[in-house]
Amino acid sequence: RAKDQGGGIVYAYEPQLHSHAEERRVLEIALRKALERDQLTVHYQPVVAADTGAIESFEALLRWTHPELGPISPAKFVPIAEDTRLIGPIGDWVLMTACTEARNWPDHVRIAVNVSAEQLMNGNFVGTVVQALARSGLAANRLELEVTESVFLREGGGVTDMLDKLLSLGVRLSLDDFGTGYSSLGYLAKIRFNTIKIDRSFVQAAAKNVAEAIAIIRAVVTLASSLDMTTTAEGIETDRELTLMRDLGAKKIQGFLFGRPMPARDALKLFNRDGERAVA
Ligand code: C2E
Ligand code: MG
Ligand code: MG
Ligand code: MG
Repeated sequence: RAKDQGGGIVYAYEPQLHSHAEERRVLEIALRKALERDQLTVHYQPVVAADTGAIESFEALLRWTHPELGPISPAKFVPIAEDTRLIGPIGDWVLMTACTEARNWPDHVRIAVNVSAEQLMNGNFVGTVVQALARSGLAANRLELEVTESVFLREGGGVTDMLDKLLSLGVRLSLDDFGTGYSSLGYLAKIRFNTIKIDRSFVQAAAKNVAEAIAIIRAVVTLASSLDMTTTAEGIETDRELTLMRDLGAKKIQGFLFGRPMPARDALKLFNRDGERAVA
């Protein structure tokens, strides 16, 4: 509390003094109403071919602007949505919105949607995907679902079966943030991921010439290719990082260098300009 901090000083309202728990509680209450109050939007970030720079897909990234608190980072509110199970309805809405938007793009451009373990394993996620594809009219092979290694930590199993069911619909699977979690190669043998996304932390370390990071990226690219998976390098901000990741064999590139996450209308404009090429 702001009062009684000692020395007889009484602080005025200062958000930094609020406890983490208090901030979380405030955000949780606000988040419960965010969807119905139209405070959520989806932004789209291009993913381009490493060799040509042509747009291959967009990643759908959730945005929340609270009328008083302003924009709130997904890094802050997605974990709250997961803990409170609000990620179910919110995630379903993102999926439907993103699939519908992707119908406006050229046929070869895919849409990637992040899926939390909680959303994947509770409710009827396969049914939700089938419905989103049917309602939007999007072909299944244009949808990529991104999961992180954390889905494999869930108790009770069933994750492998769920991911297999999704693959049998014809949708594609990406393993997001690879290398940041509890990496085990075991599940790469079990699930036929289409893409491994190499986390930005490796890209940054490699660009600083950290030998271990370079060795790991090299190994991941080789492993992916022998398992018939492709690789995306995340968080490319500089030409140096681009050149390095290209040389290390990453097939796709995502990062501020090519485009920040942007509103749907701006993403659409990229296609009407110089041959569907993202420009740095
Ligand atoms: P992610 O899936 O790994 O998404 C990539 C994050 O990296 C995004 O952060 C993106 O804005 C950021 N990024 C992309 N390029 C660069 C770059 O060059 N430099 C830097 N510094 N950052 C870059 P964002 O949008 O803040 O999202 C953070 C995380 O929140 C996502 O990480 C994802 O785990 C989660 N998230 C976002 N939208 C959704 C959603 O609809 N559903 C679920 N379940 N999670 C979501
Ligand atoms: Mg992602
Ligand atoms: Mg990622
Ligand atoms: Mg990430």
